[in-house]
Amino acid sequence: MAINANESQCELSIQARTLMGPGPSDVPARVLAALGQPTVGHLDPQFVALMDETKRLLQYLFQTKSELTLPISAPGSSAMEACFVNLLEAGDKVIVCRNGVFGLRMTENVERSGAQAVTIDDEWGQPVSLDKLAEAIKANPDAKVIAFVHAETSTGAQSDAQAIAKMAQDAGMLTIMDCVTSLGGTPVKIDEWGIDAAYSGSQKCLSCVPGIAPITFGEKAQQVIQNRKQKVQSWFSDQNLIMAYWGGGAKRAYHHTAPVNNVYALHESLLMIKKEGLEIAWARHAQNHQALKAGLQVMGIEFVVDEAHRLPQLNAVTIPEYADDAATRSQLLSEFNLEIGAGLGALAGKVWRIGLMGHSSSQHNVEFCLNALETSLLAQGGQFEKGAAIAAAQAVYQNAKQSTAVS
Ligand code: PLP
Repeated sequence: MAINANESQCELSIQARTLMGPGPSDVPARVLAALGQPTVGHLDPQFVALMDETKRLLQYLFQTKSELTLPISAPGSSAMEACFVNLLEAGDKVIVCRNGVFGLRMTENVERSGAQAVTIDDEWGQPVSLDKLAEAIKANPDAKVIAFVHAETSTGAQSDAQAIAKMAQDAGMLTIMDCVTSLGGTPVKIDEWGIDAAYSGSQKCLSCVPGIAPITFGEKAQQVIQNRKQKVQSWFSDQNLIMAYWGGGAKRAYHHTAPVNNVYALHESLLMIKKEGLEIAWARHAQNHQALKAGLQVMGIEFVVDEAHRLPQLNAVTIPEYADDAATRSQLLSEFNLEIGAGLGALAGKVWRIGLMGHSSSQHNVEFCLNALETSLLAQGGQFEKGAAIAAAQAVYQNAKQSTAVS
């Protein structure tokens, strides 16, 4: 049957949403405008200058001086894969810390790299247990790498990256850290902590469009990559080859056609964070989380993760018994154009994941989300006063303003 191309020729029209799920987050108009700048060649001098600037901005975000810091032309999963395939060779041993979905994926990556995974498991919602890790290091002194997820998006738990990196250094092992959800939202200090390889995503606290993923390799990791016995099994991910393009200087060789417009967008989003200042961005995420928490408490909604390990940018919260999970989320989407996230993996159907990431982390969004939830939950039998949740959140902002005025 012949396909009639005319049938699919309709103008694209996408309804804007407020994105308060586990990512993507709201993309600011400035970033979308940057995306729409004219496409130029991937070796055009204008683009080459932008590549260098993007690398400098990523170094700031990661807090590293490493020259092997760049955006991978693909989503976070590809950057995750790049870390494993570049650092591992067949027969290597990796200790993988698992406390949610993305730790499980790390095991997959280790095994598909021909390496052996030794796994330590923590309950979902808990951070990586340092005691269990110490035992695993003792039992596996020949392990080459410790891999862990700094901010588990499936549960909202943050692990102690600095302590894990120290344990790895003391044992002479390398670290691979997933900071897809933490970068830009909570402190990530690659050089100070001594992390050897880390990757992130564009669509969480950077508030850029999805599909481009920051990555960084420290000096020790670079030496491992340069001195491999076997070729990296993925041609596309081989950082030795990618550096011929992203490495800097006047001589750049074609490796692949970079997603030029996505790099414009990433550059703009990084610039916005640089202008705000990382510390201020971290404080903003923390404050909006406190306000959201105050409002949710009024509605009897609890957090999955203990306060000490809670991510401000990813709030995994219990669904009230009287409420219908899917119906509530679909009402928020259809009536309010508001997206919140469902539970993932073992937490599917048990929790909602409310994201306050990047540009989505604002007082406006906190109040908007609380109002939408109040409306939906009151109609389903919730026992609280309309407006009380927003008032509780506003009190948090008011108190913060007063204490800043006093100090
Ligand atoms: N790691 C974590 C912690 C994530 O949250 C995600 C995505 O949500 C990924 C890895 C994979 O990133 P992407 O979906 O961009 O491939």
